Amino acid sequence: MSAAAGKKPKPRRVNVRKPEVMERVEAEVAEHYRSSLVEVVRSQGLFTIGNTSMTLAKQFGFCYGVERAIDLAYASRRVFPESRIFLIGEIIHNQEVNRQLTEMGIVSLPWEKMDEQYDELTSEDVVIVPAFGAPVSFMDKIERQGAQTVDTTCGDVMKVWRRVRGFAKDGVTSIIHGKASHEETRATASRALGDDKTGHYVVILTTDDADYLCEWIRGEHSDAGAFYARFPEGLSEGFDPMVHLDRVGVANQTTMLKSETEDIQKRIQVAVESRDGDAEKFFVFDTICGATQERQDALFEMLKHKMDALLVVGGYNSSNTTHLVEIGEKELPTFFIRTSDCLQSLEDIVHFDLHQKVEVSSKTSILAQDEKVVVGVTAGASCPNNLIEETILRVFDLRGISREQVQAECDKLGVAAAPA
Ligand code: SF4
Repeated sequence: MSAAAGKKPKPRRVNVRKPEVMERVEAEVAEHYRSSLVEVVRSQGLFTIGNTSMTLAKQFGFCYGVERAIDLAYASRRVFPESRIFLIGEIIHNQEVNRQLTEMGIVSLPWEKMDEQYDELTSEDVVIVPAFGAPVSFMDKIERQGAQTVDTTCGDVMKVWRRVRGFAKDGVTSIIHGKASHEETRATASRALGDDKTGHYVVILTTDDADYLCEWIRGEHSDAGAFYARFPEGLSEGFDPMVHLDRVGVANQTTMLKSETEDIQKRIQVAVESRDGDAEKFFVFDTICGATQERQDALFEMLKHKMDALLVVGGYNSSNTTHLVEIGEKELPTFFIRTSDCLQSLEDIVHFDLHQKVEVSSKTSILAQDEKVVVGVTAGASCPNNLIEETILRVFDLRGISREQVQAECDKLGVAAAPA
């Protein structure tokens, strides 16, 4: 079955963005994920029926990178109607979108480790690379198998890759602020080895990790075993903390909390300065993507207005959504929900607890009160508008406001929303 034997084939990247295909794809994607009600609520600022008001952040939901990735995945099915189509892991972190792709016969391959399914890829197959990208070893393997690839890696992720590759070329160790087990960070880390694979990286997640690294930079530690135990996943092979923290460059997963990333950059710079007397061996590039930044900024803006509760809709493994929850929960009761089904009743909300890292069920009286309630809604870059619409309708429904009343309110406003 394998095409790997013999001469190494050239990469077979295919462009599925053909005008005649994209027109149909865009219509299909809009049908699956668009919501006219969401547009109405967005345009109103505060959308009120009776004693219940809903408000949306100015920026939320699908970002340009996610839209592009979904379009390309849908286009792949149209361009290759008869081929086996695979996807490395998930196209984005959203169950609903991934379910649609599965229904289209697109098969998800493991993303943490390659298994025999990768050995069985042939030149007849198509492999979609998700918006997060994929590690170099995965790309090389697919290339050796001769399969065709549709690469949906976001341009903002590739910008980070260029930075860390540059660090490796210049003998600078990459300090990557991100989650070591996240698809994007794994892909970025593999590029931090550089083209000749001699580069080094360490992935840090928290300011505590940064402080520990700073202590090493200042020469306050010498127990390498403790260092390895602290970063079991996010280290390049052969990393020696006594050697590889000399010239350091900070990059970050594109979806981190900007304020935290800036704080980490500053701490590391100060540590290098206190060691060397200057920051000549410190390099930094802010690689938070524009869409993540806009969603965080929009939430900060939204939080200036009075709200009783905030619902953040999105996949529990979505990094940028998680940071929206962190921002919200500092200010008001905030619930990280996957879908509207999490709103089980006025008093029971199933939601993801970031601190316990599990889904929990909470009792709350916030939505149940008789007086006026203002509920804010936002969503990460991987959440489609139809899920946001369902959430809005669910809140109204629980508060005794029917879909017909929602439609009537839209009619009154003279805007066409047609909740299904
Ligand atoms: S969140 Fe940012 S980096 Fe990720 S796909 Fe969207 S635009 Fe690209």
